[in-house]
Amino acid sequence: MKVGETERIKVDIDEKTGRLEVLDKATGHVWKQILVDGYTFKEAVETSSGLEIHADFIRDDEGGKKVPFKLRFTMGPLPADLRIEVETDTEKAIGEVYYPYPFALDENEGFLVLPRNNGVIYPVKDITVRDERLPVYGGIHMPWFGAVGVQKGYIGIFETPFDASIQVMRVPYQNRDNLINIIYPVWQPSRGKFAYVRRMLYHFISEGGYVALAKRYRKYAIEIGRFKSLRAKLKDDPDVDKLIGAPDFWPIGYGFGPITKEDRVYMAKEFQNLGVKKLLFSSEQDPEAIEEIKKLGYLVSRYDQYDDLYPPSVLATLGGRKPAADFPEDCVKLPGGSLMKAWQPRTLKGILQGYKICPSQGYDHASRSIPEELKTKKYNTRFIDIVTAGTLNECYDEKHPLTKQEWMEYRLKILKLCYEYPLVVGAENGMDWAIPYVHFFEGMAGTTTRLPAAGHHLTEYIPPTEEYLKYAVGAYHRVPLWELVYHDAVVSTWYWGDNSNRLPELWHKKDLFNILYGTAPMYLWGKEDFDAMKHAIVKSYKRVCPIVEKVGYAEMVSHEFVTSDHKVQRTIFQDGNKKVTITVNFGEQVYVTAEGERIRPLDHVVKEESS
Ligand SMILES: [Zn+2]
Repeated sequence: MKVGETERIKVDIDEKTGRLEVLDKATGHVWKQILVDGYTFKEAVETSSGLEIHADFIRDDEGGKKVPFKLRFTMGPLPADLRIEVETDTEKAIGEVYYPYPFALDENEGFLVLPRNNGVIYPVKDITVRDERLPVYGGIHMPWFGAVGVQKGYIGIFETPFDASIQVMRVPYQNRDNLINIIYPVWQPSRGKFAYVRRMLYHFISEGGYVALAKRYRKYAIEIGRFKSLRAKLKDDPDVDKLIGAPDFWPIGYGFGPITKEDRVYMAKEFQNLGVKKLLFSSEQDPEAIEEIKKLGYLVSRYDQYDDLYPPSVLATLGGRKPAADFPEDCVKLPGGSLMKAWQPRTLKGILQGYKICPSQGYDHASRSIPEELKTKKYNTRFIDIVTAGTLNECYDEKHPLTKQEWMEYRLKILKLCYEYPLVVGAENGMDWAIPYVHFFEGMAGTTTRLPAAGHHLTEYIPPTEEYLKYAVGAYHRVPLWELVYHDAVVSTWYWGDNSNRLPELWHKKDLFNILYGTAPMYLWGKEDFDAMKHAIVKSYKRVCPIVEKVGYAEMVSHEFVTSDHKVQRTIFQDGNKKVTITVNFGEQVYVTAEGERIRPLDHVVKEESS
């Protein structure tokens, strides 16, 4: 049965199974779906906007009963777009719902495309790719997924992203021995109910690969107001320019050794003496030291968070930390009434257990404590930990119940409060709903793959695992999806347990990723060996940051694998009539460009043009 047709695509549905077929008219390729489960066709209804299928789904959560669903299909808004809505009784208590089904891509050159941190691709035929359930916002950091092959690709955008996940799965396709990796969306209940109509927007491409997918999402994000450029943010706060081309420096030494305000001011001044023009100095507490570091033209920030709460007795053990909220009344309650557990600090005094602060209560405390502190400590920057890390959750406390969307909204209010102060705002890891009120994300320069317990042990040498070498610093699987969408909207840095200088043998390679992606390095260094190592930091700064500054406000318009082994890669940044092309050689061989330029192993070239 025909669903609809535009000049770009023709969509049909096998109404008996619910499976779609999408013909890409540019190439003749037909996208086919794999059945997931439980669908029984009842009727098809043509409506003014498209086709509506009425079907029953078998529900395990209903003891095997059949539950009526409506599936609505609309062509557009772009010629290669298809919108799919899934609806059932909104008040109905329900478990997970699987529709639309996965599109199959059976091709040796095919890749799944996942916006996990900056972005990764998994070969569809790679049987080492793990089955994974990844929450939208938490497992993936923009609400979309896709797949690309030669002259083909699709993106699925979650238009209702807050109660959803993706499932990555390996399945046999057409014959038992032909295993392929697929992705499909999973709708989850909101506080136990279906709650609202769920909506996906699919878009099909015949050229441009994952870049075209990211650009389709960028257009969508701009249209719904999820995008705000760094130039627009600069108008709200002139200090934003101090971030563009600045490395992120945390004065944290081995084991968080004690460090005085004099040490910090000394380090900042040494950086300036050595030619560091811009710097994000991420941790200072003393009002006078804040002023001294600001005088150098640097951003001065502090660590802050409204997520982890420790019972008063534990706080006493921790040594007099001020509680961020009240225990236990401000904590998130699970459906049975128990407290949601949070961070578990591993200290010499023992392993402690934190509990999650409900974002509604966290915002309440932040709205009082942040303005109060800023009266005496004139920071120009603030880093809020956790606020855009982890996952979105629900709260079942009777006084402050929350859906996941409300969870997001309260967290956004904390960031907005800082943004409007105005402060340069940083947040942990990254979720793209926060883009309008965040200037830098600590963690988005990297991938989801980190060293073991990277959040607990920030500076110690841990030998890189095979997985880390493959996905975190390997050139083959990384693609800058986040930068293709948001490079001109937010600055990405490494995660602090995955900082630039964490593993000396990989420092140079991480610098190369910063150069290629136009993202910021992060250095963690304590006072104890600062003088011995400051020249190494400055060398890295001078290698990376002038290039990052050059493209700081520019859109990343393309990324490509220049060689089939992915070891030579190229990005292009466009800012008005200025175009910057960056080619990086991650390989072991000299690479000679089409223009005859030689790029040595682990080196790069930058070309600037004006049109
Ligand atoms: Zn609550």
